[in-house]
Amino acid sequence: MKTCDVLIVGGGLTGASLALALAELGLNISLAEAVSVRERCDSSGGERALALAKGSVGIFSRLGIWPNLCERATPIRHIHISDRGHFGKTRLNASDLGVDAFGQVLLAKDLERVLAEACAKKGIEILCPARLIKLEVRFNAVEASLIQNGQRLIRRARLLVAADGGKSQVRRWVGIGQTTHDYGQTAVIGTVYPESPKLFTAFERFTATGPLALLPLPRGRSALIWTLPHKEACSIQAMPLKQFEQHLQEAFGWKLGRLHLDSPLYGFPLRLIRAERLFAERVALVGNAAHQLHPVAGQGLNLGLRDVAVLARLLVKHLKRGGDPGAFTVLERYAKLRSYDHDRIIGFSHALALWFTPTVLPLVLTRNLGLLALDLWPLGKRLLVEQAMGEMDLG
Ligand SMILES: Cc1cc2nc3c(=O)[nH]c(=O)nc-3n(C[C@H](O)[C@H](O)[C@H](O)COP(=O)(O)OP(=O)(O)OC[C@H]3O[C@@H](n4cnc5c(N)ncnc54)[C@H](O)[C@@H]3O)c2cc1C
Repeated sequence: MKTCDVLIVGGGLTGASLALALAELGLNISLAEAVSVRERCDSSGGERALALAKGSVGIFSRLGIWPNLCERATPIRHIHISDRGHFGKTRLNASDLGVDAFGQVLLAKDLERVLAEACAKKGIEILCPARLIKLEVRFNAVEASLIQNGQRLIRRARLLVAADGGKSQVRRWVGIGQTTHDYGQTAVIGTVYPESPKLFTAFERFTATGPLALLPLPRGRSALIWTLPHKEACSIQAMPLKQFEQHLQEAFGWKLGRLHLDSPLYGFPLRLIRAERLFAERVALVGNAAHQLHPVAGQGLNLGLRDVAVLARLLVKHLKRGGDPGAFTVLERYAKLRSYDHDRIIGFSHALALWFTPTVLPLVLTRNLGLLALDLWPLGKRLLVEQAMGEMDLG
């Protein structure tokens, strides 16, 4: 049996970011991840385009990995929000609001790879592929049983961080409940090649079936994220190429000329999951294990990275005074510090997902008036952008 200060379960984007942040502090860190980096990058999840808020870029800069990411990232300098077939629209320009870009778009697989390379250089014990199968809290530590290559391993840690995603088993094993909302929708993603690309521009178009986003990628391509009821999502994924392209064109319109599909399509069923608490004895939750969001506002990872930043900062302060990383006071403070940001962003994403789905006429009218008013109201634009850019004071 080996002992470590912190065992992180789940080496996805938030787990790996936390491992890197904590390794900087000279802590003895173990990171357990069930699926190899290669498999994660080659899966549908690796193809997700992620809009990183300015605050998240700041976190990666402080972790020292932004220089390796920026050449693969595309800045968002303009945002165009509109309602298909209706009058409402809002345009946002980064320069009007005094910023260079609202955020940056990166493919999840590029971020996974850079994080994995950085973790490998930092003396973190990486157990991968290794799956946590059991945990027990005893004698001021968590005892975790893992399976790696058919062998059973035990790690004793003073703090276990669950970064094991929306279906978190750790959350269940430590008895933390969850509230859920099934949107009855699937996000269909893929890459599109537009005939007349608009560089550095993100489009959010509200269609009769749900929101359709095109995010800018290198070489004039765009990442498609199209939210539809499950049945329609299955049906468009099964369409022959030409029929799909025609369907997409009808939904998006001709703003970028003819749209060509440049990749396979992948589907992600959408559910809101929120943990009822952020900690249990010697266990903290971060990222999707704490909150899984609708992707309409592009906030899930951004919120998870702020969990990471806050937890790492608290641990530094506490350890400088010779404290125990799994102490109740640290975990309680972590939950307190994260509650406002969680309420704000989960509420915002959920409201947006519900507001932009209905097709009932009075609601469509309200939505269009809202978009029009926002277009004419500079302060409203600034508030919306500040909300989405996710900057925070890390003290
Ligand atoms: C279509 C789509 C678009 C999105 N767009 C955006 C966006 O633009 N901006 C944004 O901020 N967010 C976006 N998100 C959300 C973002 O992808 C997630 O919030 C983020 O990836 C969550 O990362 P995570 O590390 O917390 O969880 P996960 O990515 O779920 O990682 C959990 C990891 O834990 C591992 N694991 C699970 N159980 C165990 C176990 N027992 N033992 C060991 N390992 C285990 C899993 O293998 C997995 O690798 C989007 C999501 C979707 C679906």
